[in-house]
Amino acid sequence: MTWIPVPDGSPIGVHTLPYGVFSTAHDGRRVGAAIGDHIVDLAAVAGEQGGADPAIFRTSSLNAFMSRGPRVWFAVREWLTRLLMDREHRAAVEPHLVPMPDAVLHLPFEVADYVDFYASRQHAENLGQIFRPDRPELPKAWRHLPIGYHGRSGTVVPSGTDVIRPNGMRADGGAVSYGPSTMLDIEAEVGFVVAVPSALGQPIPVGRFAEHVFGVVLVNDWSARDIQAFEYVPLGPFLGKSFATSISVWVVPLAALEHARVDPPPRDPKPAEYLRDTQPWGLDITLEVSWNGTTVSRPPFAGMYWTAAQQLAHLTANGACVRTGDLYASGTVSGPIREQYGSFLELSWNGTQPVRLADGSTRTFLHDGDRVTISASAPGPGGSRVGLGEVTGTIRPALR
Ligand code: MN
Repeated sequence: MTWIPVPDGSPIGVHTLPYGVFSTAHDGRRVGAAIGDHIVDLAAVAGEQGGADPAIFRTSSLNAFMSRGPRVWFAVREWLTRLLMDREHRAAVEPHLVPMPDAVLHLPFEVADYVDFYASRQHAENLGQIFRPDRPELPKAWRHLPIGYHGRSGTVVPSGTDVIRPNGMRADGGAVSYGPSTMLDIEAEVGFVVAVPSALGQPIPVGRFAEHVFGVVLVNDWSARDIQAFEYVPLGPFLGKSFATSISVWVVPLAALEHARVDPPPRDPKPAEYLRDTQPWGLDITLEVSWNGTTVSRPPFAGMYWTAAQQLAHLTANGACVRTGDLYASGTVSGPIREQYGSFLELSWNGTQPVRLADGSTRTFLHDGDRVTISASAPGPGGSRVGLGEVTGTIRPALR
């Protein structure tokens, strides 16, 4: 298939080709594409080989490349695929392959605005049962529109960044105090990266999703449940989530997920006109959550009630515009059974059912020193897998 030796079973093959930003001991940040255990230095290859404008890769973020739009994305993907499949290019490209261990990966794009949705029905119902046992499980608007909130783009960090346990206000019975969160949690999510901006006042129709969105990343929406529970009424999450949001360092283009597209689940009631599907944008991505090396959950993305196309349409339905680098995340991905829950709040059922790890220890929420890794893959062509990489982070003690 490709002349690059890709390890057996690697999901980062020639059908994946995700983009990221890396640096090496000798050279600063620039754009690369991953294949197997290597990074293709795109600026160097484009500079020598032509076929793509090297300026869009000789920069410290994907924003310039992404903002060029779908015709450039597809042309670059075709060009790159040809270089990697066709042996006649080997001699010219090989000197510009960087072994992964020699590179440092960075935040792949400049995050403009950040939005987080709440599109898993199972997750929303679980939280309803845990926090509002006396009321209906789903909030009134939930089945009518994709519920979301605006988050903090400046604290989106690349995979591998340590997360300092946040301090905040918590209520314990009648007592309210300020201190380290004792209910630090994760949310396993899929994020969508907006590349082509829209104009103020111009909603993006559901059918134009792929003209604006470049690709996906994995997201860990770290959440301090005690801080969140005390602050969220009536304006929603604030400091309980804004301290850090981790994303994977490789952006997988939508083009690599063609074979993962599935019909979304049936909706009742029928969505409003502006939210009606024109093409199937469900994605059969399977996530995996590892807690200190023990796999504790495999959340299935295919069952998400609202698709990313509907979320983008909703995000702009009031005329709000999007910018290159906007990131919006799906909301915690949870499937119908416990082994598919995407947060520790659900896995431990609000701390009442501890999770056992391989070393024999048990957990409800995160301890200092704990490491969480979320990885994912999706079906590719011919029975192959397309890897979405991973997002990882380790908890450091709160500041005193
Ligand atoms: Mn979230």
